[in-house]
Amino acid sequence: MSANFSFWNMACQQLDRVAQRMNLDPSVHAKMRHCERALIVSVPIRMDDGKVKVFEGYRVQHNSERGPTKGGIRFHPGVTLDEVKALAMLMTWKCAVIGLPYGGAKGGVICDPAAMSLGEIERMTRRFTSEIAIIIGPAKDIPAPDVNTNPQTMAWMMDTYSMTVGYSVPGVVTGKPIEIGGSQGRGEATGRGVATVMIAAAERLGLLPAQSTVAIQGFGNVGSSAAKFLYGKGFKVVGVTDVGGGLFNPRGLDVPALLAHVQKSPHKQIKGFGGGEYVEGHDVANARLLALPVDILAPCALENQITAENAGAVQAKIIVEGANGPTSPEADEILAKAGTTIVPDILANAGGVTVSYFEWVQDLQANFWDEEDVNRSLDRLMMRSFHDVYDVAAREKCDLRMAAQILAISRVAKAATLRGIYP
Ligand code: NAD
Repeated sequence: MSANFSFWNMACQQLDRVAQRMNLDPSVHAKMRHCERALIVSVPIRMDDGKVKVFEGYRVQHNSERGPTKGGIRFHPGVTLDEVKALAMLMTWKCAVIGLPYGGAKGGVICDPAAMSLGEIERMTRRFTSEIAIIIGPAKDIPAPDVNTNPQTMAWMMDTYSMTVGYSVPGVVTGKPIEIGGSQGRGEATGRGVATVMIAAAERLGLLPAQSTVAIQGFGNVGSSAAKFLYGKGFKVVGVTDVGGGLFNPRGLDVPALLAHVQKSPHKQIKGFGGGEYVEGHDVANARLLALPVDILAPCALENQITAENAGAVQAKIIVEGANGPTSPEADEILAKAGTTIVPDILANAGGVTVSYFEWVQDLQANFWDEEDVNRSLDRLMMRSFHDVYDVAAREKCDLRMAAQILAISRVAKAATLRGIYP
């Protein structure tokens, strides 16, 4: 990723583009260009060697016009306040596209979890939670998992918050284990949603699952569960990459066997799987993956992966953005000229926050649904939003990213106008 890339500037650029096209009220636009609240915390931890290390963490709430704020927590060496602000803004749009009664937030800690013990990660998670406890809560701001965080992280967060207030508060975070108030279907919800909109977009272009090939960047929560659903629907997954490298097989990877391998591997990586050609190093592997002659490409790793430098090499007819912000605005233009359909992040990866919303509703009511009900409701909301976005694109004669943003921003603007400015 280039050193001077600003994800926040990119998110603001996208907002400005849409605001201009929509003739958005300048006062509403000005509010949207700022985050409501950004908390920077220091997180001192006693490491296993007895020394104290201080990590920096953030929780940013972008906009709460439509309800309490919602967004994941990321543990990664590359976390910055700029990145967390941008991801919080994207969450505002994502919740609005689906019609969830939430605004957007995001959080993160600058750390390298791969170099930390489980005990160190737990202590860091708990201290971070206690530092941000003043601004989170089931009626205020509800975190969830993101890159390098998982149900166990959410369990520690829920427990720490509950200890602080003196009683169990399952609704303070989502993406928890089922045993402590998690929802059926949450673990695979983002990947399931990615697969659902991918199939719908493929159908629109006349592509049949059994004859279509897919390449997936990132094989974590989102990438691996998307791969699992797509494989189940008959798609041929011919390439995947992760932080260590890439796996390629033009005849199609055996996804269930690859998933079993990753589960067993110490760092949850694809390396060492026999069913394809392995390429060491994510830079080389990603360059090859993005240029594969596939029907569909699903970036499911990190932001700013498809850029002006490599967009020209993309051969896929459809890009489905499992990750947040994987395509730069310059790449968007290049791909639009090439006729590539891009299903944007705020629609494509909204399955996670949708089932997080179901989880929160279940926690608040202490009334839990079975998996079939969760999946049926998820599929219904994803398909409804997919059609809403396509309708706006047809009406406004614009691409799907612009359409999703017009839909989202007009919903947030409506709420902002109705509520007015306090005092
Ligand atoms: P994860 O930590 O579970 O997985 C990340 C994956 O990306 C891993 O396989 C990792 O090895 C790989 N990766 C990291 N750097 C890479 C690189 N340079 N090249 C190729 N692969 C690389 O994270 P996740 O939860 O799957 O999140 C992935 C993306 O999806 C992020 O952009 C996140 O914000 C977004 N997202 C996640 C959810 C969710 O519910 N988890 C919801 C919506 C959006």
